[in-house]
Amino acid sequence: MTKPILLSTPHIGKQEIEFVKEAFDTNWIAPVGPHVDAFEQEFCQLTGAGYAAAVSSGTAALHLALRLVGVESGDEVFCSTLTFVATANPVVYLGAKPVFIDSDRISWNMNPQLLQEALEHRARIGKLPKAVVVVHLYGQSADIEPILKACDRYDIPLIEDAAEALGATYKGHFPGTFGRIGIYSFNGNKIITTSGGGMLVSHDAELVKKARFLATQARDLAPHYQHSEIGYNYRLSNVLAGIGRGQLCVLHERVAARRHNFEIYQKTLGNLPGIEFMPEAIYGRATRWLTCLTIDPKAFGADREQVRIALAKQQIETRPVWKPLHLQPVFSECERIKGTVAENLFTYGLCLPSGSNLTTEDLERVINAITEIHYESEKYQFSLHHLK
Ligand SMILES: *Cc1c(COP(=O)(O)O)cnc(C)c1O
Repeated sequence: MTKPILLSTPHIGKQEIEFVKEAFDTNWIAPVGPHVDAFEQEFCQLTGAGYAAAVSSGTAALHLALRLVGVESGDEVFCSTLTFVATANPVVYLGAKPVFIDSDRISWNMNPQLLQEALEHRARIGKLPKAVVVVHLYGQSADIEPILKACDRYDIPLIEDAAEALGATYKGHFPGTFGRIGIYSFNGNKIITTSGGGMLVSHDAELVKKARFLATQARDLAPHYQHSEIGYNYRLSNVLAGIGRGQLCVLHERVAARRHNFEIYQKTLGNLPGIEFMPEAIYGRATRWLTCLTIDPKAFGADREQVRIALAKQQIETRPVWKPLHLQPVFSECERIKGTVAENLFTYGLCLPSGSNLTTEDLERVINAITEIHYESEKYQFSLHHLK
């Protein structure tokens, strides 16, 4: 049977098991412990974040972040439209409403110009959002400076969803460390994983302290159980933090491997008609967490779905680029800030297998399969032409 090639799978190094064993040997099998503390510290050293709180998922980190900047029922939160649903779900958990902003063509991320115009307009009518959530998509930083400037002008907190962008840079710094709060994910498909987990970071020590407090059921300082606020059970297990410490050691290798995949794909598929790869913005370095491309069906000879299905038949998993959230049935009532960039990326965009553990043979299989689809379609067109 043909071995399936998956989109992005966990890739464990040598040290993770040692850290996990240490947790077992010392009986720190709890959502507190030395690995959690060390994971937070090492994460800060690596990323340049000021303070960090390890939590049970990226979604939990976003939920806490929105709560910490004061998002409440009835508020509005501006948010990138081209993203995974987890970016916007926590806005709704808090009873607030997301407003979706289109992408720019260069980074595929939130268009800073659109954000600035929208904030200007909202300031004029006295209806500013409570927060802005910017996503750093597929391992590439959004154009953070103008986005931050637009938010600062109206004193609106910026939350960075860097779940897909750990290891990327923006002008030499890690995305996720620019705004009031940044979040990361260690889900199984991300560039490094704890099987499930997340991190909340900020340069404000008080905010991170409050995050830890809310993440442990908001227990007041008292010998008995006393609570003055509603909290959550969101802390990361000490066992999983051990996996995270091991994974941090290999982050740079993982980035290099994913960038290598991208380079091979680009060299071999980049000259096929109708294929265009996700650009790398000049201000930074993308991790190429996923290699994404767009397919112009006229030039290529098959459309995105035809390619995806043909590959699936050969046990090769690919995925359409995220369906923009403003097109999701669950958000059909939400406002959107114009533009068709994200919609076009969804129509034509495909994510290729991109794991850091792909073999040369895996890559060859994907490349050959895509190349064949193109040449098969050419033959077909030729024979039709011939018959006329
Ligand atoms: C994965 C992801 C999340 C959620 O992270 P989890 O750890 O799976 O909860 C949030 N935002 C984006 C953009 C993601 O890709």
